[in-house]
Amino acid sequence: MDYPVIHKPALEDMKVKPNIQDYHESQRDFSWDLLKKELDGLEGGGLNLAYEAIDRHVKKGKGDKVAFYWEGAKGEEEVYTFAQFKVQSDKFANVLQGLGVEKGDRVFIYMDRIPELYFAFFGILKAGAIAGPLFSAFGPDPVKDRLLDSGARVLVTSPNLRAKISGILGDLPDLKHVVVVNKNNRHPEGLQPGDVSYEEAMAGASEEFTIVRTTEEDYDIMHYTSGTTGKPKGAAHVHRAIYQQYATGKWVLDLHEDDIYWCTADPGWVTGTSYGMVAPWTNGITQVIYEGGFGAGPWYRVMEKYKVTVWYTAPTAIRMLMKAGEDVVKRHDLSSLRYMCSVGEPLNPEAVVWGVQAFGMPFHDNWWQTETGAILIANYPIQDVKPGSMGRPTPGITVGILDDNYEEVPTGDEGHLAVRPGWPSMFKTYWGNEEMYNSKFQNGWYITGDKARKDEEGYFWFVGRADDVINTAGHLVGPFEVESALLEHPAVAEAGVIGKPDPIAMEIVKAFVALKDGYEPSDKLRRELMRFARKKLSSFVAPREIDFIDSLPKTRSGKIMRRLLKARELGLPEGDTSTLED
Ligand code: ATP
Ligand code: MG
Repeated sequence: MDYPVIHKPALEDMKVKPNIQDYHESQRDFSWDLLKKELDGLEGGGLNLAYEAIDRHVKKGKGDKVAFYWEGAKGEEEVYTFAQFKVQSDKFANVLQGLGVEKGDRVFIYMDRIPELYFAFFGILKAGAIAGPLFSAFGPDPVKDRLLDSGARVLVTSPNLRAKISGILGDLPDLKHVVVVNKNNRHPEGLQPGDVSYEEAMAGASEEFTIVRTTEEDYDIMHYTSGTTGKPKGAAHVHRAIYQQYATGKWVLDLHEDDIYWCTADPGWVTGTSYGMVAPWTNGITQVIYEGGFGAGPWYRVMEKYKVTVWYTAPTAIRMLMKAGEDVVKRHDLSSLRYMCSVGEPLNPEAVVWGVQAFGMPFHDNWWQTETGAILIANYPIQDVKPGSMGRPTPGITVGILDDNYEEVPTGDEGHLAVRPGWPSMFKTYWGNEEMYNSKFQNGWYITGDKARKDEEGYFWFVGRADDVINTAGHLVGPFEVESALLEHPAVAEAGVIGKPDPIAMEIVKAFVALKDGYEPSDKLRRELMRFARKKLSSFVAPREIDFIDSLPKTRSGKIMRRLLKARELGLPEGDTSTLED
């Protein structure tokens, strides 16, 4: 499994000079205050994300710059400048105030990826309220859980989604208003009695709004975690997170003034807000918002049409693109593309290398969590890429690998991935669960729940979720390593690996494998895969059992749910499946 290092390109061969280079050249001691100075703050004091992302650019004369190009699921096209974005978000803030929304109220968004979602999001922040984005593919139960847990006062949705959850609306005592957006009368079913019509309310709303004064420590966004390892937790963030989202947008995504950026994550997940809204727009960058779903052809078409330069996506999508093959890539002119990043799950080295083969550049993996609010470990443009590694900590961040007593282990050893608390985008609490929040801090560290190791050059390597790490005959085995080895076999499209209880070895390594088109499950293939894995891995790490499966259970954001593979294998209850993909 030794993949050669992909050397960083020479500076003169890069289309633009990476932003992080300036930071290195100036050799300045790191201080968040330097970043704070690049943003404005509110006049008279305070900090508000909506101001920094939108109004600041208008004030600085960039009102005519395109904030986003939108392409609807049916091919509709709209374009909004920062000035238009300001007007729409100001109007929506007025609508909310008219409905009695006050500072600190929770306003949730349950919408498809249409422009109004973004107007609503920033309108909520301007009104001083807390925005809670929900993934539009959720059914009624997950929506109800989250609205109840957060005590949401207003829900912004559309007729089709409202119909899906009409049965739960009576069970939400805190919910006072349902605002329904019927964009271009897309949904003939229309509104229900008692709904607030977005279109009517906006038509009557003033374009003038004074942003409600918020401070760095006031809540701005609530995000439920992905539910990969258990019941989703409501991570609540505050306005100071902007500093780091802005900085990592510059350094890790390498956003430059003329970029056309595309983040494929849905705003229902933290990547879709931190990097689908905050990072690009606080940097004043133009982005593409594509409402349609995944598809290799449509995705490349979007990149070609809008001349996307920087692309941020996820391992599952990359694996699906690999499955679709390089020929589809070659049918499109993707010459504008200059930088690609990935997050959300471990990125198999195979996928990093495929990036070079298919697009002429590697995918730059980076690591973070809902709780961390921003990227904390990354592969930078000015750094060699070691395929399979998450990269190095971002400036200002101290990352440690700890033993079970929360003491640091020697370099090279595996342990708990932990971060020194105090970074700007750190979550402030799990909503209504301070106890769980406190339990994440041990011995002066924030414990992420992941396991990893650090090499001599300071690169971090993901081993697995602490809960997923397998103990077989006294050896600790990370599922990622085994899955990546299997993925190198030409027949394997996806692999999920668990520890199956065993009377002798404590656990044995068991793999679930989904095959690529054109391959059929057979005993022969099973034996071949076992041999293949034994050759790549040591014999105790290689799977002892392999089951073929049509597709792996995944969260709606595309993460493999190993806990479900395990529960199903052992006939145990499946637990919270609210984020499980259909
Ligand atoms: P839950 O906490 O509800 O179980 P979740 O942890 O999947 O869900 P997120 O906050 O969306 O929710 O995901 C963060 C996690 O995703 C990380 O803790 C890590 O396990 C995984 N992850 C993210 N990026 C990477 C990466 N580059 N490499 C490896 N793992 C990653
Ligand atoms: Mg988590």
